[in-house]
Amino acid sequence: MSNLVSTEGYVLRIVPFQDNDLILTALTVDLGKIAMFVKGARRPRSRYGPEIDLLSYSEFIILNGKNIKPLREATLKEYFPRLKENYDHLTSALHSAKLLSHLIRDDQKDLNSIRLFSALLHTLNQEETQVALFELAYKLRLLDNFGIAPQLDRCAGCGQESARWWFSLDRGGVVCGNCQSASDIQLKSGIAQSLNALRTMSWDKLDRLRLSVKEMLFGNKLLDQFMAYHVQGVPSKAKQK
Ligand SMILES: [Zn+2]
Repeated sequence: MSNLVSTEGYVLRIVPFQDNDLILTALTVDLGKIAMFVKGARRPRSRYGPEIDLLSYSEFIILNGKNIKPLREATLKEYFPRLKENYDHLTSALHSAKLLSHLIRDDQKDLNSIRLFSALLHTLNQEETQVALFELAYKLRLLDNFGIAPQLDRCAGCGQESARWWFSLDRGGVVCGNCQSASDIQLKSGIAQSLNALRTMSWDKLDRLRLSVKEMLFGNKLLDQFMAYHVQGVPSKAKQK
């Protein structure tokens, strides 16, 4: 008796297998993060096309029950063509997919992560968009979803509010003047509030936030340092080839 199941999801990773086959990692609605075996996908006349491309959202019919599940059929649901025409948008989307794939465990179901990734891809599929701002918001929200975001609204040492903040990697967030130590990074006025707004504001209203290019670069760098410190083996953008 066959054990075919159908689910929808995003293709997050593709690895070639032997001469003609592929192994896909997808984040799916019903089965969480799964690996799929796609026989013959690399043959010139393969019956598969964009439905198994990176970042595509497709319906998959798979043979369930195995560790790496054989794919039987795939139907494209969403493709994001504009995103793929723009180097910065594409790089940001691929990096975001890699981070998501890293943070989520195998078979872990997580509709919040799917919604967040979907919001990011739809935003990056627009021609005019503030890529660094949305990528930063995505990362903060993703870490928040997994319970590992930096604390940004109260001192990570004493819990008090403050007008001036430092950022402490080992304490995992902003710290006040009383709790800061020499190795902490002093934050310019308003940065902690902006980062907190990126995490909590409604996604549709994020482009109203006005962060300078410098502030955005600083925020992204700070968060990358935070992840390198707290998240084991986190993929770095610099190393991504
Ligand atoms: Zn404090």
